[in-house]
Amino acid sequence: MPTDILMDDLLPILDTTNAEEHHPLIIAGPCSAESEQQVLETARSLAKSGIKVFRAGIWKPRTRPGGFEGVGAVGLPWLRKVKEETGMLTSTEIATRQHAECALEAGVDILWIGARTSANPFAMQEIADVLAEHKFAGPVLVKNPVNPDLELWIGALQRLYNAGIRRLGAIHRGFSAYGPHIYRNPPQWHIALELRRRYPQLPIICDPSHIGGKRELIAPLSQQALDMGFDGLIIESHCNPDCAWSDKAQQVTPDSLELILSSLVYREQTGSTENLAMLRREIDRIDNEIIEVLNKRMRVCREIGRYKKEHSMPVVQARRYGDIMASRIDAAVRLHMGAEFMRTVFSAVHEESVRQQINILNGDDINE
Ligand code: PEP
Ligand code: MN
Repeated sequence: MPTDILMDDLLPILDTTNAEEHHPLIIAGPCSAESEQQVLETARSLAKSGIKVFRAGIWKPRTRPGGFEGVGAVGLPWLRKVKEETGMLTSTEIATRQHAECALEAGVDILWIGARTSANPFAMQEIADVLAEHKFAGPVLVKNPVNPDLELWIGALQRLYNAGIRRLGAIHRGFSAYGPHIYRNPPQWHIALELRRRYPQLPIICDPSHIGGKRELIAPLSQQALDMGFDGLIIESHCNPDCAWSDKAQQVTPDSLELILSSLVYREQTGSTENLAMLRREIDRIDNEIIEVLNKRMRVCREIGRYKKEHSMPVVQARRYGDIMASRIDAAVRLHMGAEFMRTVFSAVHEESVRQQINILNGDDINE
């Protein structure tokens, strides 16, 4: 068993003599197939705007029981109709041996592995085995696992590669995060870029719908992905998004999708100025993260403030402050940052925390 993917024999996701034609690759369609009418209506509009690959979830892995878990195999003939009527290739998510067998039997062209499945090596091996049994050579697209673990993502790809799949691709759909965020699944571009660095031949697609979780974020995230040299986009589009049975906030009509795609700047190559622009965008993202993390810290501080008020405790406890400073400076120095710099940062953070707690003691609380 090879210890790593060689990947120098990978093939493009789509078999085309004109590689330009499919770059970037755009996959679009509803989060879930709901009815034959919804699938066909959406597909017809997408085909009209030049989309070549249609997506629709037939089986939906839901975080909690009781949600809509997909129409199941009854939806597969609808995908076949899409292909016959529009000529688009079809794609769906598989998570089990049975899904894989049904999808292959129904002639689905492209399979993708969802984020909850790529995190599960047993499920991945089961899928790899069944695809090998059916001599399916791809394309298979693997979403990043829900947790930011590059090795797990690579492991999932590797199992498929070892099963003989050469039309292989990765999808960056962001990573689960606890607490309030701008994004539904915050992207970690550097993880996708590290995957690109290790396997330059592996196509990587971005899923702005599941990263953003909101319609408004699809265009900026798509542009960001293209600027970083992603090979394509997978975007959720529904003929009537407000009535969608799943992920309604992040789906757009085929008309809006056409508008979004026409507003994007498609760059041929990532030149040096674009590399610089890309790094600056990464800095912007990190700064936003710093603000979010500081906000989280202040929220906990205010909670402590309420506790101290209730128990008539003083706001500042000198020993605790000394411990915080020493441990943070120590950690920073180990990461090659200056002790003075860290002292400045943490005394400012502490000062703001104290200010917020004093506000609470003075009865000036925040409604959160
Ligand atoms: C999907 O693409 O509809 C889906 C369920 O995505 P993810 O696995 O990224 O949550
Ligand atoms: Mn979805």
